[in-house]
Amino acid sequence: MPFSSLGLADNLARAVAAQGYTAPTPIQAKTIPLVLAGRDLLASAQTGTGKTAAFTLPLLQRLQTSVPAHGASRLQPVRALVLTPTRELAAQVTESARRYGRHASIRSTVLVGGVSLKPQCDALRRGVDLLIATPGRLLDHVSQRHVDLSHVEILVLDEADRMLDMGFIPAIRRILALLPRQRQNLLFSATLPDTIRQLATELLRDPVTVDVAPRNATADLVRQQVHPVDHARKSELLAHLLHTGEPGQTLVFTRTKHGADRLTRQLERAGLRAAALHGNKSQSARTRALDDFKQGHVRVLVATDIAARGLDIAQLPLVVNYELPHVPEDYVHRIGRTGRAGRDGLALSLVCEDEAPRLHAIQRLLGRALPSAVVDGFAPSRTLRSTPVATPGSARAQTPASHPRGSANANAARPAGDRTIRTPRTPAAPTRRNPTRPRSHSPVSHLAKSGGPT
Ligand code: AMP
Repeated sequence: MPFSSLGLADNLARAVAAQGYTAPTPIQAKTIPLVLAGRDLLASAQTGTGKTAAFTLPLLQRLQTSVPAHGASRLQPVRALVLTPTRELAAQVTESARRYGRHASIRSTVLVGGVSLKPQCDALRRGVDLLIATPGRLLDHVSQRHVDLSHVEILVLDEADRMLDMGFIPAIRRILALLPRQRQNLLFSATLPDTIRQLATELLRDPVTVDVAPRNATADLVRQQVHPVDHARKSELLAHLLHTGEPGQTLVFTRTKHGADRLTRQLERAGLRAAALHGNKSQSARTRALDDFKQGHVRVLVATDIAARGLDIAQLPLVVNYELPHVPEDYVHRIGRTGRAGRDGLALSLVCEDEAPRLHAIQRLLGRALPSAVVDGFAPSRTLRSTPVATPGSARAQTPASHPRGSANANAARPAGDRTIRTPRTPAAPTRRNPTRPRSHSPVSHLAKSGGPT
């Protein structure tokens, strides 16, 4: 199905073709006609599904075909507002809007914290049709009367579940109070917990719900693998996996900013080029780390969940959960950084005994167990406890059963699903899209068959 059959104007279809997109992704095919028709939308889409273009393209088209209302304000009123949880996501949406809007005369600008207000004020003064902003910085500009939101025709909340998690709801409510009542609202969220559905009932008028992926499903093209390991040996195992695996860029998640800095230093000491990305860094350091990573100057980016949210990094083959997240849904977001836009990816989780409850929560969310394998030479001194995973229709998950502790022989104490393997080589492993590759030659390949609950 070509983009033009969705009702997209020629100038936008040309810009999309210049990106090399030959057909719309499922979320784009569903969403674009609805937004063009002026409908409110509650859209649930996995990361990497092409959701940015799904709202940006029809939004640009509506702006270029509607006549702006003239207010009495001395400021050029903003006509479309996109709110995002993080600065990086705001920058990405802005970049996409500029690429897709290259043949349209829509002025866009981005307002995020961590950088000077002055250039943002100058851009607002020159006039902006499409504003992309994080809530805090937008409110800074509002309080200094730099921006007029009373003529916003379209509002987009991107990654709304994350905005909720980050405590942005009071800020969003303050912003909503500044918008006209009559407007189009698009709410995009990776997951649709009840809190988001509640926000949707308050915000949206007669919305269409678009759900391109099953709730809380992980990207189909991402292979997932758990490596049980002692906490104290995690950095050593990670360096080993990176040294012995295929050389590919890797995004590593830690739970804390401090942990990200410490791991970055450990990886550097192990001879791997690494950079940390988290909220304690200045905006210029965050931008530099991301640019270095995107350009391949740095092989490993060590990030916290918030900083890495929404990052779109082309062809990222490997994501590592150095520590499992507290919130199981974050696991889905994290591994959504790989396997994007139709490419395969591998997501490894280094899991120590203390993290067993978190692993079980993730498996319950996914409705299945993740394959688990001990890497040769890194057998944990204590094994992960095994819990049956509740799947739809089955009984509730049971209390973890106890397992032998402190065994010197990890193989003896290992749950049935664990296997000892040698280091995985990411591209050599078979993939869903290339099932003809010989399974027996890859140390990882048999795990897809033999893996069991951890
Ligand atoms: P997003 O989910 O918006 O972060 O997009 C993920 C990636 O998919 C980005 O790198 C986009 O450039 C790419 N993408 C978006 N739409 C398409 C399409 N129709 N065909 C191929 N790639 C796309």
